[in-house]
Amino acid sequence: MAKLKRSDWYDFTRDTNWTPKYVSEEELFPQQMCGMTDAMDDWNSYDEPYKQTYTDYVKVQREKDAGAYSVRAVLERSKMWDNAPAPWRSVLIQHYGAIPLAEYAACTAEAHMTRFSKAPGMRNMATFGCLDEMRHGQMQAYFGHEHVSKTRQADWGWKAYHTNEWASIASRHFFDDMMTTRSAVETAIGLTFAFETGFTNLQFLALAAEAGDAGDHTFASLISSVQTDEARHAQIGGPLIRHMVEAGETERAQKMLDIGLWRAWKLFGTLTGASMDYMAPVELRKHSFKEFMEEWIVGQFERQIIDVGLQKPWYWEHWMKDIGEWQHSVQIGLWFWRPTVWWDHAAGMGPAERDWLEEKYPGWNDKWGKVWDVIIRNVAAGEIEEKVMPKTLPMVCNMCQIPIASGNPGGEWSVKDYQLEQDGRLYHFCSEQCRWVFEQEPARYQGHLDLNDRFLAGEIQPPTLEGALQYMGLAPGEIGDDAERYEWIKKFTRQEKVA
Ligand code: MN
Ligand code: MN
Repeated sequence: MAKLKRSDWYDFTRDTNWTPKYVSEEELFPQQMCGMTDAMDDWNSYDEPYKQTYTDYVKVQREKDAGAYSVRAVLERSKMWDNAPAPWRSVLIQHYGAIPLAEYAACTAEAHMTRFSKAPGMRNMATFGCLDEMRHGQMQAYFGHEHVSKTRQADWGWKAYHTNEWASIASRHFFDDMMTTRSAVETAIGLTFAFETGFTNLQFLALAAEAGDAGDHTFASLISSVQTDEARHAQIGGPLIRHMVEAGETERAQKMLDIGLWRAWKLFGTLTGASMDYMAPVELRKHSFKEFMEEWIVGQFERQIIDVGLQKPWYWEHWMKDIGEWQHSVQIGLWFWRPTVWWDHAAGMGPAERDWLEEKYPGWNDKWGKVWDVIIRNVAAGEIEEKVMPKTLPMVCNMCQIPIASGNPGGEWSVKDYQLEQDGRLYHFCSEQCRWVFEQEPARYQGHLDLNDRFLAGEIQPPTLEGALQYMGLAPGEIGDDAERYEWIKKFTRQEKVA
C-alpha cells in the first residue's frame, strides 16, 4: 500500500478535540488552568508553524543526543577544565547551577500546556516540549556532573534551586511566575513567546559561539543541541497570540508579553549580561552583550512582536537604554558581593578589558570605570578585606529579587528605590517596570519576603555576613571568591593603580 505524504494526514490526526459527554467543557478545561475564554471548537484553527510527528521527533532527538554525547565522550579526557581560563570555568559553574533544574521545572510548564490547552495543535507541540525539557534537564545535569570532582561549587548544579542563595531566590521567583503558576495561555506567552523566543537564543546560541571560540567544544555542542529544541517549542506562543488578537483579547496578550519580557530581561541581563561582557576571555569576544541583544531582540524579536499583532512593550525606550547599562552596574554588585554566589565571579578587569569596554560602550571609563578605579586602588594596596569585601546585604527589588542598581555611576546616576504601599506594607522596586508588574496582580506577589525582609524578620542568624552565607547554603569551598584570585591586578602598571 502506498504511504500517504505527511502533509496529507498530519492535520487530520492531530485534531484530537472531541465533544465531552460525561463532564462539561468547563470541568474538562477549568478557566483558571487553561485561561482560554472561548470554546473548544474555536481552537481547532490554531495552526502550529512547526509540524512534527512522534516518529520524526524520536528519530531527530536520538540523533541530537548521539551527537552531543559523543563529543563529550571523545573529549572526556581532554584537559579543557584544567587549561581553561579561570573566568570561563566560572561561567560553566554559574550555568550549571542556574539552568538544569530550571529545565526540569519547564517540563511542568509544558505538561500544563499539554493538558490544559484547548487547541489540539498546541497540545501536540507542548507534548514534545515536555520531552525536550526533560532531555535538557538530564543532559545538563549529567554534563555538569563531570566537574564535581574538580570543585565543590559544581555541586550547585543540583543544589542551587534548593537553597536560599539570593540568585537562586531570584531565579525561582521568575521561573515559578512564568512556568508553574499560571494558566496555559499565560504560560505560553510568558514562557514560550517572551522568554524562549527572545532569551534562550541569547543564553544558548551566543554562549555556544563563545564556548566554541574558547575551545570548550563539549559545552558548545551541548547547548547548541538544547537550543534546537527551544527554537522549535518556542513557537507555541505565536499562533496562540494571533488567535487571541483575532478574538479581541489583544490587551490580555500584550500585558502578559510586557510582564514576561521585562522579568526575563532582569534575570538574563544579570547572569548572561555580566558573563558575556566580563567573564568571556577578552581576546575571543566578538560581540558585546549589547550587540547580541540588538541582534536577537531588537532586530529579530521586535519583528515577531509586530508580526503576531502586538506592540512593542510600553517600556521599550527605557529598555533599549538599559541593554547598554544594566550589566555594567550589576557586574560591580556581582563582583563586590562575590561571597554570596556559588561561582567565583571574575572582575574582568585589566587594561585590555577596559579598552574593549570603552570601545563597545563609549564613555564606560567615565561611568563604571570610576568605581573600578577605586576598587583597583584598594586591591593594589592590599586592602581587600577592609575595603573590597561586603559588610552588608544589598538592597534588593521586591519583584526581580536582584540588587537595586539601575543607572550608571557617571553623570547620569539615576539609581532610585521605586516604592509602593500595599495593604500596610511598603514594597521596594528597582524600576518602574518591576513595580508595574507587581501592580498588575498584587495578590500574586505580595507577602513574598526578599532577602532583606528575611534578615529584618530575624530569619538570618547570626545577623552577620557569615550568618547570611550559612542561610544561603554556601558552605566553605562553595563561597564565591575572585575568579583569578586578584592576579589581574598585576596587569595594571603602578601609574594606573595610583591614578
Ligand atoms: Mn529547555
Ligand atoms: Mn524551553
